[in-house]
Amino acid sequence: MSSETSSFLIIGAGVFGVSTAYHLIKKYPSASVTLVDRDAFDAESRVAASWDWNKCIRADYEDIVYCQLALEAQDVFTSDPLWMPYFHETGIYWICRGDYAKDVINNFKKLGRKVDISAFPISEARKMYDGLFDDADYSGATEVLINKTSGWAAAGDCLRAVTRKAIELGVQYVTAEASGLQLDKDGRCCGIKTTTGTALNASHVLLCTGAYTPKLLEFSAASSGLADLRAGSRIVAGGITTGMWKVDDKSYEKFASMPVGFQGYTADVGGFIGSLPPTKDREMKWWGQKIFKNTREVLPGRFISAPPNERDYAQWKVSGPLKEDIRYASHVFYGKKTANWTQEKHRICWDAFTSNGDFIISPHPAAKGLYVATCGSFHGYKFFPVLGKYIIQMLEGTLAPELAGRWAWDRERPDPSLNPEYPRVEMKDLLDVSAKL
Ligand SMILES: Cc1cc2nc3c(=O)[nH]c(=O)nc-3n(C[C@H](O)[C@H](O)[C@H](O)COP(=O)(O)OP(=O)(O)OC[C@H]3O[C@@H](n4cnc5c(N)ncnc54)[C@H](O)[C@@H]3O)c2cc1C
Repeated sequence: MSSETSSFLIIGAGVFGVSTAYHLIKKYPSASVTLVDRDAFDAESRVAASWDWNKCIRADYEDIVYCQLALEAQDVFTSDPLWMPYFHETGIYWICRGDYAKDVINNFKKLGRKVDISAFPISEARKMYDGLFDDADYSGATEVLINKTSGWAAAGDCLRAVTRKAIELGVQYVTAEASGLQLDKDGRCCGIKTTTGTALNASHVLLCTGAYTPKLLEFSAASSGLADLRAGSRIVAGGITTGMWKVDDKSYEKFASMPVGFQGYTADVGGFIGSLPPTKDREMKWWGQKIFKNTREVLPGRFISAPPNERDYAQWKVSGPLKEDIRYASHVFYGKKTANWTQEKHRICWDAFTSNGDFIISPHPAAKGLYVATCGSFHGYKFFPVLGKYIIQMLEGTLAPELAGRWAWDRERPDPSLNPEYPRVEMKDLLDVSAKL
């Protein structure tokens, strides 16, 4: 690939797309790099999973590959002036079920990273942080993992800042919605068509379209007649509810310097639940345990999970049962402590999932010139600073074989039943009763 003269069309300005654009323009300042997204990068509201109040930043993985990758990303968050303002090293408090804590600590040891990380018996942990998590649900829990060097990032602010930096360096940002891929007469992907009928062309087309990816590929397969473009069971769009609650003045004093909280569960129970520290507006964020699909007919006879049809994925329309999921999340961390807090806002955040949480960062074998980099699978944000480096290696064919194998389009995919963080239920079963009628 002669990258100085190549042109890159990156569809989707979440962490996968923006990181790629930023790394590309830094590495190849005279290349043509265009980022396309349906939302302006500084819009008041965006559909990107990466656009959020805050996200947890941690390297506490039982999978050593992601542990190492997250450490590399966190080193950028703690040392590079572009990223540093957005990272808050509050530590994490992780209520573990199973051997999670031991596996994570072993990974840090194997990687030779000396950080302030330990597992505590539950009785001891409950007294820590001034008893903040004393009322949490510890049923089935084995121990509590505390890593003082983990924390959270102001996610939307960081995404905006890095996008702005990429634009300053020469990336072009186009606000437009891709309706399908364009293939030339030899079957090579040469660009996209937008919903307003404009064509955008480049020698490399990279899909970083998150939860919308299966639908875009489905539409592209229909318009081109190339069935192999479809994602099939590789990528499933899944939604999770987040909630922001206003912390009352008295509680704020106690919660202002809290660590990120995690309730980890095994696959038979469900996905892990998170509790993030209050923002500057004194709002605390939770995400719920229900990870759901939205399977419907997107084209005649074609049923896939996709975000709702509305332009904003109907992300602010949250049903009673999903709000209840947030109430449950607050309860398993703080018991009755949150009884007087006001539920401020709720949002459904849509992400792309693979069966075991591996990303897909790969050429698309059905069309030359087409590449896919997405499937954050509910954990992709923290890798924002380094994703682009690895995506460029994929584009250049220099990705280490282990990563290329894991992130390949075509590979054997483990059974999702072993993955707690996988969409299992349908959104239609979680609507208000009146909406179902
Ligand atoms: C509730 C929730 C909590 C999470 N918490 C964490 C956390 O604490 N820490 C962590 O590391 N990760 C977390 N994640 C995961 C993380 O947010 C995602 O994995 C990651 O942000 C995905 O990035 P992306 O670039 O693939 O997709 P997105 O951020 O969704 O970006 C995709 C972009 O593509 C654009 N797009 C899509 N289709 C089109 C089209 N046809 N035309 C033009 N533009 C298009 C969209 O507008 C969007 O901007 C969480 C996810 C969820 C859902």
